[in-house]
Amino acid sequence: MSVASTHPRAIIVGIGTECSSFAPHRTSLSDFGIRVGSRVLERFPAVQSGELDAVDFVAGPVARALPGGPVLRAAYDTLLEEVLDAVRAGAPWDGVLLDIHGAMLVDGMDDAEADLARRVREAAGGQPVVLAAAMDLHGNVSRDFAGLVDLPTCYRTAPHVDEPETRDRAARLLARALVSGVRPARAWCRIPVALPGEKTSTRVEPAASLYASLADPPDGVWEAALWVGYAWADEPRTAAAAIVVGEDLGAIQRECARIAKGFVAVRADFDFCGPAGSLAWALDAADAASTTPFVISDTGDNPTAGGSGDVPTTLAALLADPRVVSGAGDVVWSALVDPEGVLRAQDVGIGGAFDGDVGGWFGWPSRVRLRGVVHRLVSDAAGDVAVIRTGQLQVVLTSRRTPFHSRQDYARIAIDLGRTRLVVNKIGYLEPDLHRVSDGWVLALTDGPVDQRIDHLDVRRVRHPLHPFDDIGDPWTAQVELCGPGAIR
Ligand SMILES: [Zn+2]
Repeated sequence: MSVASTHPRAIIVGIGTECSSFAPHRTSLSDFGIRVGSRVLERFPAVQSGELDAVDFVAGPVARALPGGPVLRAAYDTLLEEVLDAVRAGAPWDGVLLDIHGAMLVDGMDDAEADLARRVREAAGGQPVVLAAAMDLHGNVSRDFAGLVDLPTCYRTAPHVDEPETRDRAARLLARALVSGVRPARAWCRIPVALPGEKTSTRVEPAASLYASLADPPDGVWEAALWVGYAWADEPRTAAAAIVVGEDLGAIQRECARIAKGFVAVRADFDFCGPAGSLAWALDAADAASTTPFVISDTGDNPTAGGSGDVPTTLAALLADPRVVSGAGDVVWSALVDPEGVLRAQDVGIGGAFDGDVGGWFGWPSRVRLRGVVHRLVSDAAGDVAVIRTGQLQVVLTSRRTPFHSRQDYARIAIDLGRTRLVVNKIGYLEPDLHRVSDGWVLALTDGPVDQRIDHLDVRRVRHPLHPFDDIGDPWTAQVELCGPGAIR
């Protein structure tokens, strides 16, 4: 005879991505990978190791997609049904752990994560269920979401080197609530500031100190979380936010106000995490450098920040610059998603002449004529790639949206970065591996769906006032709202 466990039960589910309103790309069902079973649990080392055995954690579906344009409504509905089916099958649950990003846009819907939290809560058993969430600090967290999720938290580093720790922290918070039977309250505060991602690296000030100050919260506070937000989502909730969770109502409100005021006080101090300027300035800097490889981040269309990957304006500038095309040493530009261009290159084969317009695959309104020689063709599980050579410049065309953010990514297409004079790359701040290999690096503030010059964006739906679009006033007063416990609004 088997004895049923009397431990509290919690299910892990999620739908996560990050979407730019300004990207012509649409995220479809096939863009999502869905983890189940052990592939979900392996994201939570503290769950997998047995440290949190006092709670029976069950893996439901966790869907994630590369950042990009808004999610098609039908894709979201399909994924949501899959999540809800898994939740309903084991309901009622004591707890739910949402493994999500926090800046998802769904066509025809605002505040997608609040919708997800509401629907999951209903399916899991309603008001008594304790919800936790592990998120990205680039999420936009609304009052509605804060009202629905008891224990939300997010990364404390960008680049994100604390992903497993953050997910474990959320799992520990949920276990603490379920085992103790204590349902903490939370304090939420909208911080009326929108910042581009490349200004919020926690490697440098002021983000470094703001995040360091969360590590040791005052008595009565379980968790203090700060979201810098995601500026390229044009919807009312877009802004930075703080949520502080705990049992002491006074302490959580004070701590939440402290974090929000601290953020607002240094809003003008956030600066790009490396030397930044126009593309022309960046090419001058590369020309003056004697180091190899020099890296220029082509920031406006970075696919891992929500770019479409189909913006060719930097390519036009490179083709027009004789220092690039006819200079000494190889130059690589990566990458442009253009399945038609890849097919054309495959048709003519290696060594064949390539002549055609590229760019705008998803609808970015410009194309560039590219003439050169098909230098390399690669086909593997990650998709098809064609490298077109024009003089010293190698142009990387891909059949799918593909980041080239590590040496491994370039090795896949037989490009040795150590022998490349200049790498121009659709990326923001360099991922650690590329950071190590680069010898000289600048950020080019280029056109695209994730243009870092956010005051250039045609923003229409955000709530005002919002820095840098508006003057938010000095002194600024933090308006902290208490939420919960539970789903109380
Ligand atoms: Zn992020």
